Amino acid sequence: MTVWQELDKDGFEQFIWCRDQESGLRAFIAIHNTKRGPALGGCRLWPYASEEDAVADAMRLARSMTYKAAAAGLAYGGGKAVVIGRADDPRNEQQFEALGRFIERLGGSYWTGVDVGTTTAHMDAVARFTSYVTDMTGSLGGTDDWTADMTAYGLLHGMKATAKRIYGTDRLHGLTIAVQGLGKVGWALCRYLHREGARLMVTDLSMRLVEQAVLQFQALPIAADRIYDVPCHIWAPCALGGILNLSTIDRLQCRIVAGSANNQMASPQQLHLEALQQKGIVYAPDYIVNAGGIIATAAELDGDGPRRIRSRVKRIAHTLEEVYHLSEAEGITTAAAADRIAEHALHSYE
Ligand code: NAD
Repeated sequence: MTVWQELDKDGFEQFIWCRDQESGLRAFIAIHNTKRGPALGGCRLWPYASEEDAVADAMRLARSMTYKAAAAGLAYGGGKAVVIGRADDPRNEQQFEALGRFIERLGGSYWTGVDVGTTTAHMDAVARFTSYVTDMTGSLGGTDDWTADMTAYGLLHGMKATAKRIYGTDRLHGLTIAVQGLGKVGWALCRYLHREGARLMVTDLSMRLVEQAVLQFQALPIAADRIYDVPCHIWAPCALGGILNLSTIDRLQCRIVAGSANNQMASPQQLHLEALQQKGIVYAPDYIVNAGGIIATAAELDGDGPRRIRSRVKRIAHTLEEVYHLSEAEGITTAAAADRIAEHALHSYE
């Protein structure tokens, strides 16, 4: 299938190839859907091996932003920008200024922000040429780790809603929670969970982060390759995607999987979703439970202050309850229920 056929099949509205000779910028902007409002989705900076890889990533990410925003009830659509390059390229500033000029030409149908590989400094460069940008210096999203903190806050409330369903109470006090990955989101999550009185088991590739978590949260350190085997109430993947396959699912000893990582199931997804379900493990769909960051960004664009933003992020719990209800009523996986809710929000929007 050609890239054009794929764009057509997935219902993309616009796909732009951005090339700036002077700065060496090579980027793509994918606008998947703007039915609910302007496309929102950060800009990834990555040394893609080929243009095809960058196109595929932009398409996958933009499409999932549409679903994430729609399921969260936001008046925004889904898009993504990917820049082929490296964060240590001395031409970064000029490249992101050039990207700002391309985004400006789109007239507000796409808003960018920080994603993997980009920082507030990149967004400051974009902002010199367009106002359709978030996460610059001076914005809430430009504050260190604020988006990750909101993602963790949403995840906390998603865990509470799921615990209520399984254990009859949303109190996490005394529950054992295994956290894979102590980066920006995983760390903030541990801070919230520790305050709630949860018992933490943690792992990361960085021993420094694990040691810090042991000191700060009295967490139990677990070797990275053993985290799948620990008996716990909730298993929280907050590192990379694609970690749940038949062999890792077989090792899990939990009742709930709820984490921030995107695309947690290895391919084919359906097989692994069903394997989890057969084991009696409730899966909190990733794009529902990790939507705190985008909800917060949208709320900031809508002019909300920090208090109102938190209360909007907290509503992730209600969305999840809807997902579980639909999944039970229709006998479908929680991921399929999430897709139905997102698609309904997309198609019924006037
Ligand atoms: P991060 O890069 O700050 O942290 C990831 C951490 O995972 C790092 O500390 C890394 O050492 C660790 N890690 C990587 N592989 C590991 C492994 N095999 N075992 C244990 N630890 C491992 O990233 P982040 O911003 O915290 O995001 C975490 C995940 O959540 C990512 O999948 C990201 O796409 C997703 N996510 C993040 C946000 C956000 O607001 N930052 C929002 C939605 C989704």
